[in-house]
Formats: sequence, C-alpha cells, structure tokens
Amino acid sequence: MTIQRKVAKRPPKRSLATYKAKRDFNQSPEPSGKKDAANVVTRKPGDRFFCVQEHDASRLHYDFRLEHRGVLLSWAVPKGPSLNPKDKRLAMQVEDHPLEYGDFEGIIPSGYGAGTVLLWDRGTWEPESDDVDVAMKNGELKFSLAGTKLKGSWVLVRTHGKFGGANKESWLLIKHRDDWAGAVDVTKIAPQSVKSFKTLVEIETAKGVEKWKSNR
Ligand code: MN
Repeated sequence: MTIQRKVAKRPPKRSLATYKAKRDFNQSPEPSGKKDAANVVTRKPGDRFFCVQEHDASRLHYDFRLEHRGVLLSWAVPKGPSLNPKDKRLAMQVEDHPLEYGDFEGIIPSGYGAGTVLLWDRGTWEPESDDVDVAMKNGELKFSLAGTKLKGSWVLVRTHGKFGGANKESWLLIKHRDDWAGAVDVTKIAPQSVKSFKTLVEIETAKGVEKWKSNR
C-alpha cells in the first residue's frame, strides 16, 4: 500500500529565459538569475517583495517590480509612480526579472538597458485579488504596497491598446484614494536611493562604480 501525502501545490516558477537572452553577463553587472535569491532581498517568510528602480537609460523611466512565483513581474513606467489618483501612469510590461534584481543598483555600461540604476523604493506588496495569475490574465491587478515611499492601495490595468497604442503589454499604474494618496510629486521630493541614499548623479560618479567600469 502506498501512502500518499497531500502536498500543497506550488505554482511553478516563471521563466527567466527572455531576461537571460537579452543580456551578456560578462558585460553587465546585473544579476544573472542563476542563484537562489532567498537571502538577497529582505522580507519575512510569506511576504512578497516589491521594488521600484529609477533607470536612466536611453530614456529615463522607473521600473516597477512585484515578486510573484519566484521572479519579479516588471513594468517600465516612463513618468514614474504618482500618488495622485487622477494620474494614470503608462506602464509597459517587460520581461520577468530575477528576484535578486530587487537589490541591484549601479551602472550598466553597455548593451541592453545601458545606463544608471537607482533603487528608488522597496518593501512588500499584497495582492487585493485572490489569484494573481487570473488578475494578470484579466488585466486588472489590485494590490497594496508597504514600501519606504509608496504605500497603500494601487491598481495596474491593462489598456487593451486604448492609450498606449495597440500593444497588449501596455498597462496603467494608478493610485487608489486612501490615506497614502496625495498631490505631492513623490519622484521629485524623494529622489534618493533607499539602498545607498545617493542620487542618480552620485551613483554615476561613485568611486566603486568607476573602478568596476575601468576594470572591464
Ligand atoms: Mn529599465
């Protein structure tokens, strides 16, 4: 007789194939996505990590990332997040990133995404929908954030090409009305890194980074 134990089904980890295919890790200091990132980003067991990275690439944008099924779901937000519920911020979904990307800050000297990355906010997030995969498929993900700068209730809504062209990767990031909403321009009043407390310019001129660049 075989004894069968009931094991809670864990959804499979999402793939990082696209992330890896776009990058040459001999040229880029970005995490390769190989190692287990459990200890790299800080959160309690059962918590979900989120972060926002300001990315001064060919065009400045903010990368918004939510931990889900072992990776970071990622959107590039050209204008960055807004605390004003009237603002609908275009958010282009990009390839899933490895979890350890959530600790990354520095300079990508060349290739895909070349430019400076500043870890602008980080913390934990909680879905307000029962099933994140279903919410993503339906194009409406409601969630709350507990970051250093961003808090409270938000939604990501797929536009179906209404605003951002015909692209199905186009979403809107919108703050819900709550105690954490407001008319302040959060990217202007709080520009510093939550990791190094530096500004973009300070990261670009940091000695360690310059050394890394010259060693390559
Ligand atoms: Mn980016």
